[in-house]
Amino acid sequence: MRLDLDERRRGMLEEMGIRLWPDAVSLQTRPVDGERTDAARRAPAKPLVATVTSPSMPVAVDQPVVARGPAAAVDAMQWDALATAVANCRACNLCEGRTQTVFGVGDTQPDWLIVGEAPGENEDLQGEPFVGQAGKLLDNMLKSIGLERGRKVYIANVLKCRPPGNRNPQPDEVAQCEPFLRRQVELLRPRIILAMGRFAAQTLLASTEPIGKLRGRPHEYLGVPVVATYHPAYLLRNLPDKAKAWADLCLAQELMRTRP
Ligand code: URA
Repeated sequence: MRLDLDERRRGMLEEMGIRLWPDAVSLQTRPVDGERTDAARRAPAKPLVATVTSPSMPVAVDQPVVARGPAAAVDAMQWDALATAVANCRACNLCEGRTQTVFGVGDTQPDWLIVGEAPGENEDLQGEPFVGQAGKLLDNMLKSIGLERGRKVYIANVLKCRPPGNRNPQPDEVAQCEPFLRRQVELLRPRIILAMGRFAAQTLLASTEPIGKLRGRPHEYLGVPVVATYHPAYLLRNLPDKAKAWADLCLAQELMRTRP
């Protein structure tokens, strides 16, 4: 893939850990928690080339996840009541193993809603989504498009409780929890939703398609544009796909620009 990039776009790639060289033949990455390098200082004058070699396959779909009907009571809740309902929820077995629920965090009048999969160990302990390694990459991805956690950005998960051992969410757990996310979207009214990973994308889009098929094109959920992309935890293991995730972020930015 050949890219002619201006200073701003080079900076965006740097934030995501995608490093470019003049006329390079390969795309390289740096660790997510590495120091941010000064793109302007290192940027050469001539156009840059990024080549993505052998992109990895998306995470295999082992179970279809299709959201079912929302609970009527949740549909009518305001924000505080919704947060309380989540905190007290015992609708599925995940409540047995949780330290606490993870409702979400950020600006409650957001332009962007980031939807992840489920809390992991750190999130379960701290009560905040995306605080581990994947969270660091998410923060860098947000930074790459001029965003930061909490400023016009809200972050939530499909599941509000940690699945034991960080296993995949089960369809019944997704079905029980989806009304909470739906109500969050209705109340937050974001301008765009970024669905991170296949569980977020398949739940919001009521689809069983793999993330590799859902990404790269616009969708809609409750009238809000949705862009699906790879989950940061997947990107940590599949570095070449960061370039595709960056393309998805650019698509989301473009949708933001072209829609009121
Ligand atoms: N992965 C997610 O999808 N959500 C989190 O909150 C943390 C890791």
